[in-house]
Amino acid sequence: MEEIAIVGAGVAGLTAARSLARQGFAPVVFEKSLSLSGRAASRRRGDVTFDYGANFFRLDNPVIEKLIRHELPTTDLVEIPGDVWTFDASCRLTPGDPKQNAEAKYTYRNGISQLGRLLVQSSGVEVRQQTCISRFEQHGKRWTLVDGKGNDAGAFDRVVLTAPAPQSLEIIQASTMEASLKAGLASVLADSRYHRQFSFILGYQQALARSQPFHALLSTDSGCAVAWLSFEEDKPGHLPKGQGALVVQMSPAWSDQRIDGDRQALLESVTREVESLLGSDFRPPDWWDSQCWMMAHPAKGVDGDALKAGQAHGLYFAGDALHGRGRVPLAMQTGLAAAEAIKRSMESNQG
Ligand SMILES: Cc1cc2nc3c(=O)[nH]c(=O)nc-3n(C[C@H](O)[C@H](O)[C@H](O)COP(=O)(O)OP(=O)(O)OC[C@H]3O[C@@H](n4cnc5c(N)ncnc54)[C@H](O)[C@@H]3O)c2cc1C
Repeated sequence: MEEIAIVGAGVAGLTAARSLARQGFAPVVFEKSLSLSGRAASRRRGDVTFDYGANFFRLDNPVIEKLIRHELPTTDLVEIPGDVWTFDASCRLTPGDPKQNAEAKYTYRNGISQLGRLLVQSSGVEVRQQTCISRFEQHGKRWTLVDGKGNDAGAFDRVVLTAPAPQSLEIIQASTMEASLKAGLASVLADSRYHRQFSFILGYQQALARSQPFHALLSTDSGCAVAWLSFEEDKPGHLPKGQGALVVQMSPAWSDQRIDGDRQALLESVTREVESLLGSDFRPPDWWDSQCWMMAHPAKGVDGDALKAGQAHGLYFAGDALHGRGRVPLAMQTGLAAAEAIKRSMESNQG
């Protein structure tokens, strides 16, 4: 049986892995961090759970809807009630797009990262966590993966790269392979750009009141400091009754200007911005947390068709850069497409 490696245990990599496992392969997933699910990320703080990367996903893609609703366990899948309202640069709040608000938003009772865990548990794929792949070596038709400490992480017939495009570019540039292949893949990946973004979580022993019936507020003006603000207590199972937490995602422009800033000082600026949105409903938080996403969303995607040049050599790509948009279902779709391309290639080799 052909040996397949997948770099990255985000939703793209794990969806690819699960699909390949269901076709009878035994892919090995390499993940540099300790956690599963990548930017579909949750954290726990005592009995509080919060989603600090992707806030929710929609099931508007029939293939991904079938996977999530009918193939993965749904016991902990929860719909998030409440509408997303919008605000402009003058902090004027208005009910958002009725069409968008009619579409259900989902997460899991124990956090959105449950999606990654379910993809692993339902397929039994092997994930080697805390293994950062730094480069590949091409040996004939096989690829040897080398980890960040210079250790041989194994040899494989096919490799799927699912890290954000700038990180995949670093791996390709450090790798040993045919010069024309390397130059071609590197030039495509180099075209991609990602936004940087801070997430702040403001926690309350007693949830904030809301003067209007929204779940979240979304900025309509890229000049606003806050891009997104939502009430985590609306998500079933995330907070003990009566407690509250705001997830505040700052705009890429605000984040870029403060990327090395002291978090405590940034918190003060974040609370001022949130206060100007929530007015007299706002109080300073009882606890807080933060995350700086160095690659939050693709600002510019890659040409997925051009990356297919790697497939003849056993190299495949997946991840949200291929769609040019940061969305959980779109990233999962790229994982399915990579698994499908591997299957087709094997069938044509056998034929
Ligand atoms: C703040 C924020 C808010 C968002 N909000 C939403 C939302 O509300 N709804 C929505 O649908 N989407 C949202 N998104 C986007 C969504 O989270 C992503 O599009 C999606 O999770 C991307 O999945 P992925 O598998 O392509 O990449 P990732 O999740 O980034 O997975 C890639 C994985 O590869 C690993 N990796 C990288 N380099 C290496 C290496 N060298 N070796 C081994 N492992 C490596 C990483 O650690 C990571 O786990 C949001 C994202 C952020 C950051």
